[in-house]
Amino acid sequence: MELKDIKGIGEKRIQILKNKGINSGEDLAMYFPKTYYDLNSKETFKEDGKYKLINCEVTGDVKLVRIKKTFNYSYAECTDIENNSFKAVWYNQPYIKNAIKTGDKLYLYGKNSNTKHNYFVVSSFRNHNKIQEGTNLLPVYRTFGGLGQTTLSSIINDAVQEIETPTYLPEFFEEKQFTLSLKKAIKTIHSPNSLEELHSAKERLDIENILPYIKISEDLKNNKNLKKQQKYVNFDDIYNKFCDFLPYKLTDSQLEVLSDIKKDFYSSSPMNRLVQGDVGTGKTIVALITCAVCVKSGYNAVLIAPTEILAKQHYQEATNYFNQLGLNVLFLSSSTKAKERKEIVSIFNSLEPTLLIGTHSCLSDDLDMSRTGLLIIDEQHRFGVKQRSAILDKNSTIDFLMLSATPIPRSMSIVYYGGLDVSLLNNPPKEKQIQTNIVSPQKENDMWNFIENKIQDGSKVYVVCANIDDNDDDFYQGLSVKSMYDKLCKRFSKDIVLMAHGKQDGETENKTLSLFRNSDYKILVSTTIIEVGVDVKNADIMVIVSPEKFGLATMHQLRGRVGRAGQQAYCFCLSQNISEKSADRILFFKENLNGFDIAEFDYKSRGSGNLLGTTQHGKTEDIFELISLNTFNKAKDIYEKLKEEYNTDEVFEKSLLFNKLSFKTLN
Ligand code: ADP
Ligand code: MG
Repeated sequence: MELKDIKGIGEKRIQILKNKGINSGEDLAMYFPKTYYDLNSKETFKEDGKYKLINCEVTGDVKLVRIKKTFNYSYAECTDIENNSFKAVWYNQPYIKNAIKTGDKLYLYGKNSNTKHNYFVVSSFRNHNKIQEGTNLLPVYRTFGGLGQTTLSSIINDAVQEIETPTYLPEFFEEKQFTLSLKKAIKTIHSPNSLEELHSAKERLDIENILPYIKISEDLKNNKNLKKQQKYVNFDDIYNKFCDFLPYKLTDSQLEVLSDIKKDFYSSSPMNRLVQGDVGTGKTIVALITCAVCVKSGYNAVLIAPTEILAKQHYQEATNYFNQLGLNVLFLSSSTKAKERKEIVSIFNSLEPTLLIGTHSCLSDDLDMSRTGLLIIDEQHRFGVKQRSAILDKNSTIDFLMLSATPIPRSMSIVYYGGLDVSLLNNPPKEKQIQTNIVSPQKENDMWNFIENKIQDGSKVYVVCANIDDNDDDFYQGLSVKSMYDKLCKRFSKDIVLMAHGKQDGETENKTLSLFRNSDYKILVSTTIIEVGVDVKNADIMVIVSPEKFGLATMHQLRGRVGRAGQQAYCFCLSQNISEKSADRILFFKENLNGFDIAEFDYKSRGSGNLLGTTQHGKTEDIFELISLNTFNKAKDIYEKLKEEYNTDEVFEKSLLFNKLSFKTLN
């Protein structure tokens, strides 16, 4: 369904939606609420500083107070359901004056004062007369690009009514196995009558998401019965050569992992191994030694990284070692020019064994995988099921190694890594020294002063924001990459501040990152594009802006970017909108450095068993983030039934939703 066919969407809105990656009615229907308000909430106004949903009536006209050019607030007298009166306050939203009038009935979500000032700071609100009668749980969407809550709800609802929702499951099978069709589930998510309904809808969706993963792990298991062609030699020989020129000694952990890989290499069936190790445990060198053995044995090897910058980094390191060993190494990405690309492909397809390092481009069809012995995928636990199958299609006996720093809780790892053998890299080569601080808005300036001093001593600083543009999320004005960049250019100087984000083209992004690494720039303001792998040795300060917007796993990754040379490093969590619940999470993050502990905590606190656990104040949180083990087990049963009756290869061939529904992990 095309966007233009939805009521209320014109050219301008189409553009806004497209910028957000929403290109069709189906995409719009998949834009899920960030939370729900329980409209039956009986909360009343109290001076307790807590977040609440309050049902109230406006008793006086809105007044607008302008403090300075960039700061104003609006307020209105209101009474709650027990007739307590209080002032509702909106910061920097002068249009409120026209949107609300005396006598209006409102649902307000926000925070009570706790200073006897009798005010309630509104973070979002809805007018009773804009809500369909009989609604109990009101979906709340993350607004963006100037599309308000009401508009967004209305166009999404329209889209949901109209779309054809293609489950990839055979129709008859869906009917038989599920009480809720995928289409109905998606509808329900946008207008649930109760938590129970929402729970079932989420489960239906999760199962749709998990089935492909179960399929791929089955395929991997079956593929263990195959006999591989490639025969490796010289593992120890290559390893010893590396030891001669490496500037450090491998850790015991690294040696153990290498010995697992060596066993897989010499085995007659293909390797399917995951190396899981926290950031900084030294996975790259393990991968490169493995690649060298493969190439030396006469086969191609392919190493794929999630971003171009990371791939380049691996390439630089590999070139250094491979030159000393007299082995070939090439680089390929989507920004490789056509002519050069042709050459690279032709070398790769020739008889000369080569290590090819790059991004997803390395999987394109013109590369002949038949002489490739080894495929390594770095830092992509969400690597598309389809792409993984595609590789197996091309060469089913390839040795496959995955590297991941994402500590998936043990109970979830089966979903992601089912069918893979796991080696753990436990100990980092150097114990990290990182101090984490939570910084309130009042202390922000002290933080920049501290940073200024550190910069003079040679520090480099990352500042990571959740949004690129202020327009991307209306609740986070002034906290986007672009705003922060402007602010820091003023606070410091534009000669030392850089900005990088995903809306830049690849080339600019890479240039920026390499400038940050290799020149006198000191501060890099960016989105989480630096989350994985980027290695700038003298970066020792990480500022995470609005940490409540990130999963702890992501924050842990970010923190792993600093102090990489073992120096004292700092991580600052600059927070403005922290609810009690996120405060607990961030506090845990502050106190804990171990990635597994953090992932386990994140998983539990965000409610594994109890996905829809409402908090006391009438708001559900994070429900689309995680999948419960119970759901996973149900999915497994359903998969078994599917297998009995259908050819699963054909079923999953049709899984149009793979890309859209690729389920979220802990970040
Ligand atoms: P990750 O596991 O996060 O991918 P890297 O492979 O990027 O970690 O390694 C992190 C840093 O540690 C790199 O600078 C690397 O050169 C260094 N390193 C790796 N192994 C060792 C070791 N055994 N001793 C000292 N430094 C090491
Ligand atoms: Mg790495």
